Amino acid sequence: MNNQTIWDLIFGPAGSIFMHSMLIVIILMTFLVSFRLLLSRRKIGYFSMIIALFILFVQHAQIIEKTLAQDITPVQEFIALLIKVLAFVMLNIGIYQLYNATRKRDFVVFAFFILLTAAISLSYWFAPAWLQGSEDQSKLLRPLGMELYLFLLLFLSFLLVNSRIGQNGKYQLMLTVYFTTHTIHMANVYLFDSKQIALKFLEQTIPFVFYIVLFLFIFERVIEIMQAIYNSSITDGLTKLYNRKYFYNRVTQYVQQRAPVSVIFSDIDNFKKLNDTKGHHMGDQVLKQVAQIVKEETEDSGICGRYGGEEMVVLVTDPEVDAAGLSERIRSRVEAETIVTVSMGYSMLKKGVNAEELIKQADEAMYRAKTTGKNKVVGF
Ligand code: GH3
Ligand code: MG
Ligand code: MG
Repeated sequence: MNNQTIWDLIFGPAGSIFMHSMLIVIILMTFLVSFRLLLSRRKIGYFSMIIALFILFVQHAQIIEKTLAQDITPVQEFIALLIKVLAFVMLNIGIYQLYNATRKRDFVVFAFFILLTAAISLSYWFAPAWLQGSEDQSKLLRPLGMELYLFLLLFLSFLLVNSRIGQNGKYQLMLTVYFTTHTIHMANVYLFDSKQIALKFLEQTIPFVFYIVLFLFIFERVIEIMQAIYNSSITDGLTKLYNRKYFYNRVTQYVQQRAPVSVIFSDIDNFKKLNDTKGHHMGDQVLKQVAQIVKEETEDSGICGRYGGEEMVVLVTDPEVDAAGLSERIRSRVEAETIVTVSMGYSMLKKGVNAEELIKQADEAMYRAKTTGKNKVVGF
């Protein structure tokens, strides 16, 4: 204890234990976020991530134990290596599953990699006799198969997982960091006999970047999923326009603020006949086309929704935009680009009118367009 310097403390066992304890804290936080994901979706797919994080936890807890024990047996070394490689495999399966519904074919691939990992790990015990030299050499040789296998896994992750998930930037950063750490580890063990303190230090610190990015990756995914759940609750599945409830709420909000808004109401002409003659599927396609036109035309000036079957509505929120002109643009584009036409009505908000009445006025104007020849725009 007498001659210990601050550097011994940082680079020595105490520093190592501190580093790995910190990593464990980050892993536990990531575990909690993943667990939240599992609960929110109840999808068995998120289970791999939980298992992966648990294995990572064990991996670092074991390193701490090893640091305290100093001397380790080959069995302990083997288990540590196996855990390290398995954690990497499970983590990648987990990341893949965060973005993909798991199919039967995927399970075959997962099983293949887990079995391959088990098979490669045997190389620890069966290093070829003709390669072995001294005691020290065979000690170095034993883990080499598994260590090199990690490089293969890194390469395969880039190839197989990266193209099938979101947040590629973060994922690539994680793989790069892992690659760097592993390369430093290999260099230290095989070139410098594990004696390069600086390399050891890097090997312990760089993983922080890995785990922090992993945490952000999963956290971001939770937000993405929550966002998707919210989006699907306010949109219509077929047309991807807002649903009636959301549209009505937005109109109410603007009307209460006495904003100078208008509502446009449109209804496809003779749609029943189209369904009867060309089938419901064709009807759905046309509905989507019309919705797309409405969406494109109102993107910068308002909010559009599907009010009922083939009735679409627009809340014009931009005071600079003229509802009559906008309606006419939509009507003429539908006539030119699809096999149907639309009848449209619009109404501008006046004093003493509430949201329900405003929509009703636009509906009434649309009805007048229907009764006076269809395929036209009428103002209230
Ligand atoms: P009008 O010109 O008077 O509007 O005649 P119409 O046939 O369009 O009459 P109406 O508006 O009453 O008919 C709506 C029809 O739209 C009834 C229904 O078969 C059809 N429809 C409603 N929702 C859907 C849908 O999601 N998909 C398909 N394919 N058809 C739908
Ligand atoms: Mg209708
Ligand atoms: Mg109709």
